[in-house]
Amino acid sequence: MIKFGQKQIFIPSILKISEGELENTGKYLKDELFNNAAVFFSEGIEGIFGEKLYSSLDSAGINVLHRNIVSDINIENIIYEAFAIPGAVDVLVGIGGGKALDYAKYCAHVLAIPFISIPTSTSNDGFCSPNSSLTVEGKRKTVKANIPYGVIVDIDAIKTSPQNCIYSGIGDLISKITAGWDWKEASRITGETFNDFAYIIANNTVFDLLRYKKCDIRHPDFLFHLANSLLMNGISMEIAGTSRPASGSEHLISHAYDAISKNPSLHGIQVGIAAYICSFLQQNNFETVRDFLQATGFFKFVAENPLNKEEFKQAIDLAPTIKQDFYTILSDKKSLEMAKEFINEDEICRQIIK
Ligand SMILES: [Zn+2]
Repeated sequence: MIKFGQKQIFIPSILKISEGELENTGKYLKDELFNNAAVFFSEGIEGIFGEKLYSSLDSAGINVLHRNIVSDINIENIIYEAFAIPGAVDVLVGIGGGKALDYAKYCAHVLAIPFISIPTSTSNDGFCSPNSSLTVEGKRKTVKANIPYGVIVDIDAIKTSPQNCIYSGIGDLISKITAGWDWKEASRITGETFNDFAYIIANNTVFDLLRYKKCDIRHPDFLFHLANSLLMNGISMEIAGTSRPASGSEHLISHAYDAISKNPSLHGIQVGIAAYICSFLQQNNFETVRDFLQATGFFKFVAENPLNKEEFKQAIDLAPTIKQDFYTILSDKKSLEMAKEFINEDEICRQIIK
């Protein structure tokens, strides 16, 4: 039987990563023939970047017909707000860390209009992914939305983002090494659909950034490559039609830790730590992962605010139950014991999980 595997995917029409891009936002939107925007800010962001954004939209003749400061990401509130947005609005703009982007992305999905993502920190790959992380019935869930119509990353804004956001982005990026391994193994063992192109993209993005291991994490070149790599990971999920290229065993541990911990850390911080452990279990680029996290100062940073050892061990046991029919290295019971032993004995783990 001949199988036709070619498929159509959506990719963002606007993809800009550079210094000073916020000032060009109005022009980029006008070039795409947008006229009326609704703008969503994360808390505290309008005061820092609002003036630049408004003046850029204004000088390009884009009207702002609706604005909101996003403080909660409850799915019901988003649906309610979506229908309060004036009908003339033809584009939604989200600017900030995670919340405003997740919120506006889902709002745009509900209204079936284009969404422009302007991250002010790159703490994970969500700013260019086809999903939104929202609160559904009191729990954090990943909900299907659409990949952004445009992504505008102003490196000048990213440069000023807190250190934990940059380290979180580094952790989320390095996790593609272990996620890719899990996906490949799942395809071999369970016959799960595998997409070579999505896998190659996700893999390339990590190894692109690894070349910068000696670089200062606040250097514009490093931040450019980090943003670029996370952005391409978002696109790899769209190509694959699943989060598989960007999320494997290490993400399961992080989701489980979120559910258990009294004091969870940022997503990418937890995922980066879990990726270090899972790369050991998988015998997959372990030294590469370790050396990169060491060289960027990730471990040193996490050691100042270590994760809780008891909670982390519980998260390892809970991790394989987080997603149904999702093969990873943790599906093998021996791995769970090995992981807990590694946490007890590995010198780096003893500094970052206490
Ligand atoms: Zn992630």
